[in-house]
Amino acid sequence: MRRGSLTIALALGLVTSACTGAAGNGSRSTAGASALPDVSEREIAAQVCGAVSHEVLLRTWRGVMPGRSGDIQIIPRYPNFVNGGLTHATPYAYTQDVPVVLYGPGYVRPGIYPRPITLADIAPTEGALLKFAFHAPDGTAQAQALLPRDARGVPRLLVTLVWDSAGWDVLNRWKGDWPYLRSLLPHAALFTHATVGSSPSNTPTGHSIIGTGAFPMHSGFVDEYLRVNGRIQKPNAAGPSFLVLPTLADLYDLHMHNRPLVGGLVSLSAHLMMMSHGSEWGGGDRDLAVTREAEFAPTAGAETDVWNLTPQMAPYYTFPSYVNSLPPVTAYTRTLDAADGTLDGAWRGHPFTELHNGFDTPARTPYQTTLIETVIEREGFGADEVPDLLFVNYKAIDTIGHLFSADSLEMSDAVRYQDAALKTLVEFLNRVVGAGRWAMVLTADHGTQRDPAVSGAFMIDINKLTSLLEETFDHDADGVPLIQKVRATEIWVNPTELADNGVSLEQVSEYLMGLTEQQTYKNRHTPAPAHAGDRVFAAAFPSSMLSGLPCLPEARAST
Ligand SMILES: [Zn+2]
Repeated sequence: MRRGSLTIALALGLVTSACTGAAGNGSRSTAGASALPDVSEREIAAQVCGAVSHEVLLRTWRGVMPGRSGDIQIIPRYPNFVNGGLTHATPYAYTQDVPVVLYGPGYVRPGIYPRPITLADIAPTEGALLKFAFHAPDGTAQAQALLPRDARGVPRLLVTLVWDSAGWDVLNRWKGDWPYLRSLLPHAALFTHATVGSSPSNTPTGHSIIGTGAFPMHSGFVDEYLRVNGRIQKPNAAGPSFLVLPTLADLYDLHMHNRPLVGGLVSLSAHLMMMSHGSEWGGGDRDLAVTREAEFAPTAGAETDVWNLTPQMAPYYTFPSYVNSLPPVTAYTRTLDAADGTLDGAWRGHPFTELHNGFDTPARTPYQTTLIETVIEREGFGADEVPDLLFVNYKAIDTIGHLFSADSLEMSDAVRYQDAALKTLVEFLNRVVGAGRWAMVLTADHGTQRDPAVSGAFMIDINKLTSLLEETFDHDADGVPLIQKVRATEIWVNPTELADNGVSLEQVSEYLMGLTEQQTYKNRHTPAPAHAGDRVFAAAFPSSMLSGLPCLPEARAST
């Protein structure tokens, strides 16, 4: 749509609710904005509180650190999502509900625990398991799920096991595909109402909450992107560097004079936020870490099968280089390949060559398990009385979720492989560390996006969103984009451009709230949406408003 017709649409009343003439907040300039409706924070607050549940607003607030976060929060109408791919970064239950399972005969009190908890409760609970008082800014130790303190010892090895993206929607969608985990549950503490607790629910935030017991509002890791020193950055390659709070492992290791082995066997540097800052945290030692950040490989593709540490992280961690001598992932693809009756170099019709030679398939899971077992044995995790901490992220469910969604048969395969890997790992730990000498917390950093054909979600095209905002609000023709970054739940805006164009965040928010499916669908090859006139967002508002929303007393109380 051309700018002219958008201006007409605005004038004709797509956003008439804003045109009440109520007093503005006085913070905006008016130059160049004469065609745009004036709107006050009070009007936006009324719309937000009327359209968004308390729980969703609470998660949104917990995910925002002023300065680092986007300037505008966007909350799609359930179950819509901003589509730059099948995102799992939402405030809604389908990506927020995650399993938390404590397993550890001799340490854990088996049972079903329906009390609502969040990922922030994991670190203090692990602290309690270690008999180490860890103060979590946003979590509390769930000691009711542990045996009485005096009736238990301390495990030689505590494993924090993340099935990346394996939220309850995935597990419930494929109920029959995790028989081994199900068989453990009678011997475990199962939290049935655990959530991520903050939005966006994505990989860096989820792992940071697990590690620190703090939401991004306190830890500072608010999204894949952060505004730091005025610049929008994607600092994942720096791992936990931008995490401003210590993790459980940071403090426990220090407390124990760095005698515990601390290790993270993961894929992305961001996963290590559940572990530690290594020696970057004053007094810490170089904990063991294995990642595979592809962007630092000389060429994309061929090098993605190489485990590494990024240059930013290498000084602070120890990399066990022998992991690159293990059999390649292709050693694990044969079973998947043969599952359809023929060895045709493909999995469910997808050639392995198009899936990083099998790395982006469930074959990655047993491949990772071999690596985990090798490191545990060679480094001696759990080999002596000093408790060791091992943090593991299995990535296949996440990768397959992004490619095929939670509802795909490919996901069914991924869950079955993950469950089989759990059996392998538990049996290995019982054999090598010894039954009754170790404990595990199994969880997910977030859930997975549903297939829109199943959920009925409308996909709000992220590129359209960006171009519509530029067309509508950026008229100063200086070549500097007004919109710095659009993400699934937030938008970063250039403050200078905002002022130069005489536009307020309230006006941009009001415009976003009026956007329809017709305006935001990816229409190159698809017919117009059936509900073309439906608005796509439940709310859009300046992030600074969160602390003053009348329907969010928690935020008001904290200011
Ligand atoms: Zn993740």
